[in-house]
Amino acid sequence: MTAIRSEVLVVGGGPAGSATACFLARAGVDVLIVDRQRFPRDKPCAEYISPEGSRLLDAMGVLRALESAGGEQLNGMEVHAPGGAVVHGEFVAKHGYRGFRDWGLAIRRTVLDAILLDAARIAGARVMERVSVRKLVRNAGGRVQGALALTADGSAVSLDAPLTVGADGLHSMVGRHADLVRVGSWPRRYAAVAHFRGVQGMSAFGEMYVGAGRVGYAGLAAVGGGVTNVAVVVPAARAEEARGGVGEFVDEWVRALPDLAVRFERAERIDAGAAVGPFNSRARVAWRPGVALVGDAADFFDPFTGEGIYSAMRGGELLAAHALEAVRTPSRTRADAALAAYDRARRREFGPKWRIERLIGTAIECPAVFDWMARRLEADRAMADALIGVTGDFVPPRVVLRPSFLLRLIRPARWQRAPAAGAPIVSTPATRLSSEHRHS
Ligand SMILES: Cc1cc2nc3c(=O)[nH]c(=O)nc-3n(C[C@H](O)[C@H](O)[C@H](O)COP(=O)(O)OP(=O)(O)OC[C@H]3O[C@@H](n4cnc5c(N)ncnc54)[C@H](O)[C@@H]3O)c2cc1C
Repeated sequence: MTAIRSEVLVVGGGPAGSATACFLARAGVDVLIVDRQRFPRDKPCAEYISPEGSRLLDAMGVLRALESAGGEQLNGMEVHAPGGAVVHGEFVAKHGYRGFRDWGLAIRRTVLDAILLDAARIAGARVMERVSVRKLVRNAGGRVQGALALTADGSAVSLDAPLTVGADGLHSMVGRHADLVRVGSWPRRYAAVAHFRGVQGMSAFGEMYVGAGRVGYAGLAAVGGGVTNVAVVVPAARAEEARGGVGEFVDEWVRALPDLAVRFERAERIDAGAAVGPFNSRARVAWRPGVALVGDAADFFDPFTGEGIYSAMRGGELLAAHALEAVRTPSRTRADAALAAYDRARRREFGPKWRIERLIGTAIECPAVFDWMARRLEADRAMADALIGVTGDFVPPRVVLRPSFLLRLIRPARWQRAPAAGAPIVSTPATRLSSEHRHS
């Protein structure tokens, strides 16, 4: 059997794996990425990167290349509630926060992921495609020391490394084999994604449609070249309906909504669609001796709040800083302490976002609650902008987790005090932006 050694083995070459490898390789670490697919490869996704995601793209040296790769800018989001309220939120707003860019970037994953993987290569990482990791290898003490994989021609490869990174996405093989991933019963949602040409009325705003007689929600975004991405997310019970074909399921879902049906009259679906799910796994902790998880392998964010790509790259940035220490120290105790510190950093970073995700996820399950909150947000543009800014990763989640914000969201309208004209709901000015956080 062929044996290949590296300091860090990264399983998965998506945004999480590429970012982790890019930052580690730049620091001089010998990194090997293996992915079971050949790039460019597609990935079911709504294909929108948050304004703050641009900071990480810039740090990886690919922002300009991506901005000229044929995607679209998104200026904000419009959320259509089942009862008819339309919440309109923009990234440029009076709340005093700004992202690294004032817009989100909507671009095909075929393009994005190939460019990110190239960034890791340019930084010095070795990349092996069509290599599928089958199991982890442990020493007598249970410490993970690499993995066994199969190449496309069926040859076995031993991948030896003092640190293995599981960046292998939802239902991570590394997470399961390291006994890190917990499979829950909620939310058991599935997604179906397809691409269309000729959808009428697309704009520089991503659109979300919740329910309206249909269980679940759909997201629409222009992703460049006249193509619209349509992602439909439904509970497990409804996913059965996609058995007749994923693309057909998406066709039927959007055409059942009168507002969308008219815009899809002359649209043509340009692929068969792809399904993914259920979204029900999450890591209890994201490390064990010799192994760490990042991206969807560690935490899957519901697509409604988006930003899984940002979280994957940000997780890679966080992990790289700690993994560097873990592989460079001769002490196993210190290596473990470095990975434990990564886990704490990840909880600090993503914990507030998880709470918002749960809040929105619960509201989606109860159309009446969702409608109630949507009507509040429709009437209060400042609140809508703040929430959209949180999903854009540049307004801190604590802004919308404040009791005052939550109370305004749930109080009947007659109890609301009218805000002073033009008053920002967030008093903190843009001075919070760090120097690296400024527009380039
Ligand atoms: C319907 C839907 C819509 C979404 N929309 C958005 C959005 O608009 N914006 C956003 O930011 N996020 C969105 N997300 C989330 C986003 O897609 C993920 O968070 C992101 O892809 C996570 O990146 P990753 O690198 O962790 O995993 P992935 O991108 O899934 O990459 C994992 C890689 O690991 C490889 N792999 C898996 N197993 C093995 C193995 N055993 N051996 C070798 N390689 C392996 C795979 O081939 C793959 O290339 C959406 C998700 C869904 C499901």
